[in-house]
Amino acid sequence: MSAISFEILKQDGETQARLGLIRTRHGEIETPYLVPVATLASVRALGSDDLVRLGVQCSLANTYHLHLQPGDELIAQLGGLHRFMDFHRPIFTDSGGFQAFSLGFAREHNVSKIGNIFPQEVQSSPSRDGEESEDKEKRFGYRERRKKEPVLKKKENLTRISDEGISFKSPSDGAWHFLNPERSMKIQSNLGSDIIMAFDECTSPLSDYDYTKKAMNRSQVWAEESLRHHDRSQALYGIIQGGWFEDLRRESTEDIASQPFEGIAIGGSLGNSKQDMHQVLDWTLPRLDEERPRHLLGIGDIDDLLECVARGIDTFDCVAPTRIARRGSLLLSPESGGCRENKFRLNIKSSQFKADSRPIDPHCRCPTCQGISRAYLRHLYVSRELSYFRLATIHNLYFMLRFMEEVRESIREGTFLRLRRKWLGGI
Ligand SMILES: [Zn+2]
Repeated sequence: MSAISFEILKQDGETQARLGLIRTRHGEIETPYLVPVATLASVRALGSDDLVRLGVQCSLANTYHLHLQPGDELIAQLGGLHRFMDFHRPIFTDSGGFQAFSLGFAREHNVSKIGNIFPQEVQSSPSRDGEESEDKEKRFGYRERRKKEPVLKKKENLTRISDEGISFKSPSDGAWHFLNPERSMKIQSNLGSDIIMAFDECTSPLSDYDYTKKAMNRSQVWAEESLRHHDRSQALYGIIQGGWFEDLRRESTEDIASQPFEGIAIGGSLGNSKQDMHQVLDWTLPRLDEERPRHLLGIGDIDDLLECVARGIDTFDCVAPTRIARRGSLLLSPESGGCRENKFRLNIKSSQFKADSRPIDPHCRCPTCQGISRAYLRHLYVSRELSYFRLATIHNLYFMLRFMEEVRESIREGTFLRLRRKWLGGI
């Protein structure tokens, strides 16, 4: 018996975008959807009651981090993740395999965890210094990070990977932890999430062909082991690997699609640019059947969401909307000046907002924008007041929920391409 069911309610006539519904034992998820990330069983700065009030449909928690702290066995004793968080809607968990990248290559190769799925782009965006940047700051209150040095210093690789599994050295206490498919499935079973991921090795964009192939072969064996060991009350997604090498992606897609996973996730390195990512999806998605939901791991910028939905992705997860909020970047709709160039953001740190009595986004209906001014938020940010984190997170989260709702409405009404034009212009 299946742990979830998936139904396509409408297929867009002009693109591969699809409106869908995932049914789980904890409720339904309308897709396309960006799943808010609750790494340590919490969307940072918010409570589970906030999530429900904002209309969050589901959430994604992190297997590796919860295994370390507070421990999956403790969470099982306390009734599982839903009861632990007091969040009774569907929960996804990842498999822990992503930490092979974030604690391994990401540190060793000096590539940071999130934006650096595209490291070259981050480091070499043309003409983002000097006058143009000043100009952007004036126009949008947003200054691009100077491209000089990568963000992270080269650090120790905290993983040891073999065909048997992955050993992780905890960055906090230095203790070693070992994960393999069986253990990852056991931890996810203890957590009691609704949708779980097969254990895999996530490679770096800097991994070469031979290494990526080796890791992919290993992940394929682990995918089968995950299928053997997983808790049947949970829906297991297989993860397609293969980096940005066409033949590897094709092989991994055929392998994962041929197995009885309840959903398919696309993981691993997606290349060095957004174009590479589109290419990876074009190698992958047309080879998948229509019946199973498709998840793209770790992607969540507005332009990426639109491009990937157009190619047939149903769900995404990404820490970016809430993380950037904490760092001062607040999302802006096209009606309020948001565009591709300013990444639909304003930077609340900018002195131009010192006496700005307008809300973050005058067209936003989130609780924060109903009475809080940019000036007040800037003051809270500069003063490092804790309330800033909550108010800013509420805005960015609400903004993305509303954006995805708009995407779903547009597929329902047959106006998806018009919506894409409104946000991205051109085409
Ligand atoms: Zn708002």
